Amino acid sequence: MAIEAKQLSGAPGAPHESHEVKRLDPDNPPYYLPIGDEVEIFGAAYRARLPVLLKGPTGCGKTRFVEHMAHTLAGERNGPSELITVACHEDLTGSDLVGRYLIQADQTLWIDGPLTQAARRGAICYLDEIVEARKDTTVLIHPLSDHRRMLPIEKRGELLSAHPSFLLVISYNPGYQSIQKNLKHSTRQRFITIEFNYPPVEKEAEIIAHESGVDRDTAEQLALLGAKVRNLKGAGLEEGVSTRLLIYAGELIKNGIAPRRAATVAVTWSLTDEPESKAAIDEVVKAIFP
Ligand code: ADP
Repeated sequence: MAIEAKQLSGAPGAPHESHEVKRLDPDNPPYYLPIGDEVEIFGAAYRARLPVLLKGPTGCGKTRFVEHMAHTLAGERNGPSELITVACHEDLTGSDLVGRYLIQADQTLWIDGPLTQAARRGAICYLDEIVEARKDTTVLIHPLSDHRRMLPIEKRGELLSAHPSFLLVISYNPGYQSIQKNLKHSTRQRFITIEFNYPPVEKEAEIIAHESGVDRDTAEQLALLGAKVRNLKGAGLEEGVSTRLLIYAGELIKNGIAPRRAATVAVTWSLTDEPESKAAIDEVVKAIFP
């Protein structure tokens, strides 16, 4: 217990998770522009309580999509109560997700972790980049993501039956794949999978214009820049530019930075340190913003 008490003060072994609990307002879902049939698929999966894996590169709209869906579905009968999002990282353990005992003012308190809170209260739990977390987290999500819908809370000797509105959603970026950071087949086969990619130019322009407030022409130029930079991917670039970075470029432009300069700082320099790749992106930037 002394150790657990120390954890409160941020000593080694302290809780490694930060999560976000969002209240849901079905009348005001965050803006999301559908790219394919992902809205229908996710809706059907939620109604059937099938766990969902969102697969795709970083910054292409997965998080925004889950937020949009959670708000929208909250308007349905037996819809989710909240959205609980956990950004997974290499120090995140099973206890961080499930919960732990803490000593506070001479009392021993059990504190539910975000996964337990979601399973008890009927939230959608979004574990972003699950493969980054410690291996013991996988063991936990298995009984929650099949017909059992159970969460074993070993420290309390409790076997929690998930609330009927609970749903588990995880995301995974196959671009970062390595042997250690692969999603195991036994995990993947418990989820339906929605694949995300960067939106086509027209749709990405619409998103950039909406999110950054730049005019439509500039948004189209930025979307075209995105498409062309992504074509350079084989030539030394590890990953294409995210929609997020193109929106940042738009925001800089909206705040008075010249377009070419905005593209350089938001896109070129953010993507690479390699002189050759930088030069290649610079060429594309100059061609689009002469
Ligand atoms: P990911 O979770 O895939 O890393 P995000 O959902 O955070 O990416 O997307 C980054 C940003 O891109 C969002 O905040 C949003 O502004 C924008 N975005 C991307 N795709 C869409 C879309 N289809 N509709 C609306 N906004 C989008």
